[in-house]
Amino acid sequence: VRHHLDNIRKKAHLNAFLSVYEEEALLQAAAVDKKIKEGKAGKLAGLVVGLKDVLAYKDHPLQGASRVLDGFISQFNGTAVQRLLDEDAIIIGRQNCDEFAMGSSNENSAFGPVLNDADNTRVPGGSSGGSAVAVQADMCQVSIGSDTGGSVRQPAAFCGLVGLKPTYSRISRYGLVAYGSSFDCIGIFGKSVEDVALVLEVMAGADDMDSTVSQQPVPSYSAELTASNGKPYKVAYVREIDGGEGLQPEIRDAIVAKLDQIRAAGHSVEVIDFPLQEYVLPTYYILATAEASSNLSRYDGVRYGYRSADATDLSSLYKKSRSEGFGKEVQRRILLGTFVLSASYYDAYYTKAQKVRRIIREKTKELLRQYDFIVMPITPTTAFKLGEHTDNPLEMYLADLFSVQANVAGVPAIAVPCGNDNQGLPMGLQVIADDFEESKLLHFSNALL
Ligand code: GLN
Repeated sequence: VRHHLDNIRKKAHLNAFLSVYEEEALLQAAAVDKKIKEGKAGKLAGLVVGLKDVLAYKDHPLQGASRVLDGFISQFNGTAVQRLLDEDAIIIGRQNCDEFAMGSSNENSAFGPVLNDADNTRVPGGSSGGSAVAVQADMCQVSIGSDTGGSVRQPAAFCGLVGLKPTYSRISRYGLVAYGSSFDCIGIFGKSVEDVALVLEVMAGADDMDSTVSQQPVPSYSAELTASNGKPYKVAYVREIDGGEGLQPEIRDAIVAKLDQIRAAGHSVEVIDFPLQEYVLPTYYILATAEASSNLSRYDGVRYGYRSADATDLSSLYKKSRSEGFGKEVQRRILLGTFVLSASYYDAYYTKAQKVRRIIREKTKELLRQYDFIVMPITPTTAFKLGEHTDNPLEMYLADLFSVQANVAGVPAIAVPCGNDNQGLPMGLQVIADDFEESKLLHFSNALL
């Protein structure tokens, strides 16, 4: 704990943490030491974990990096957080992120941007940028983030980490600040697949507090990690890798080299086309903003956090509190979402996107019945410069081209580090598997590293 606290202090300029629970973490550590001596320690004894500022940790601030939740203190532990504590993980702090997890660069936080530790002029990715940088800069061993459209895998790729988005519903969302509820997944950052597997097995599983969570039993992911059945896998990769259009050449070359490695290990590798690729991003941004506009209506200046000081009546209280409390990108998303849900456009956008989502899910599942895994890039480029896309939201959304498919389909996906580009910036590749195939996915990714 002291080692990580030291790094947090030394690298404060990266802006990865919003709160550091120094004294508490040291007390937790002492208590865990005692349990270890008594032979009563849990599975995660001593693992130093950081939490993205969207996870409820009782009696600690929680604000989705937004002014609108200024002063809000969590009343309870989210299920995932409770399970970490029950297994003796040590929680070191609350991590910076894009406001309400909306963004791909961590430049939308009310507390300023997070910097990439590989190059301080570049973004760490988003929205879980603080969580990624915290592991990258050794400020904790594992971070818990959220992945609605790539927010764990994309920053993992930009920071050279393993980042897992499990199957939708694998981990309870109780105590996770809602963005797009039908997409939101708690995800895990680590330096090794092993750490990620162990934390997943602790957090996953049935929970009375979330009616959408899966009842499927949770396998021992960490034990199954090295237990291969020796059978060769059928691996598909997307044609975009061959074409290389819009893809940074070094990322393409690194993925091609990995595919050769997979072939050499005896697995079959085939190229596939995903004919619906062009619809994935618009479908995501219609549905995610629609859900966000509904979810964020609860921040009204009455029940939580920030309240405008110069409101004159109830309606101006709502308007002023929300206009002053929410940042620009969040307001843009609320407007977009309200638009696609409005009476005159509902069928043209929202209903249509729901139908397209179903088709994307079915097509993705069809491929995942034919192949064990689909390999694709996570990001078209390595980490871009701070400010590079901030004036052009569409350009920023395009950075999510490859990361949203797994969320639209609901299937699990992982980011695995894949070397550095010519400028020394980390690159990643993505592997997607079928629903609840995390064990196989983790086992395969572990062998890739
Ligand atoms: N970049 C995507 C967005 O802004 C994904 C965010 C996320 O996964 N939370 O919506």
